[in-house]
Amino acid sequence: MLYDYDIIRSHRKSISISVSNDNKITVRCPWGLSAKEINKYLDSKSDWLEKVVRRNAARLAANDDILEFKKVYWNGKKMPLVISDKNEITPEAVYVKKIDDIEKVYKKYCFEGFLRTVEELSELTMLKPASVGVRSYKGRWGCCDSKNNLMFNYMLFMLPSEVQRYVIIHELCHILCHNHSRAFWKLVSDYEPDYVRLKKELSKYDFLTSLY
Ligand SMILES: [Zn+2]
Repeated sequence: MLYDYDIIRSHRKSISISVSNDNKITVRCPWGLSAKEINKYLDSKSDWLEKVVRRNAARLAANDDILEFKKVYWNGKKMPLVISDKNEITPEAVYVKKIDDIEKVYKKYCFEGFLRTVEELSELTMLKPASVGVRSYKGRWGCCDSKNNLMFNYMLFMLPSEVQRYVIIHELCHILCHNHSRAFWKLVSDYEPDYVRLKKELSKYDFLTSLY
């Protein structure tokens, strides 16, 4: 095995492996599984693992300016991120007093417009959420709870509008179908026929959710 990995043992019956956006590898397995058996499993997955690790590394390398907080995405475009005495977004740059203010400034400039898009798509789909909010999430873009309150990650405002639209449709469809069954994806495709491409596009930005 070429890579370092963490092992989480539990009462589970099967073994699984996951790779985070920043290439941390985690193996989950039953208590009694031997190192030999774990290595055998990892060897059987090595082609897949290598592909994922290489893809993540390439993505992170292409975004080193984002990772170093020199630039920030705005509607899918990279903008200079400038630390200054104001919190403001202009066509040239995103200005913040400190990195922690990114959330504040994006909410200030984007939330209303985003809410209008949610309303438009709610009318189009005839799916009405109980409420719509925006907050910071690690590792997820949106959520629809059992009472149909929709909550979105503010980092969506950094993404291209077509990707934002896909996430809104996805969460709205959860109002009717609270899982990811075939029926759910059929519903999503009724309102966004290009959802497979957009879902893939969204995954390119997943690393952002563990950055801010
Ligand atoms: Zn979902």
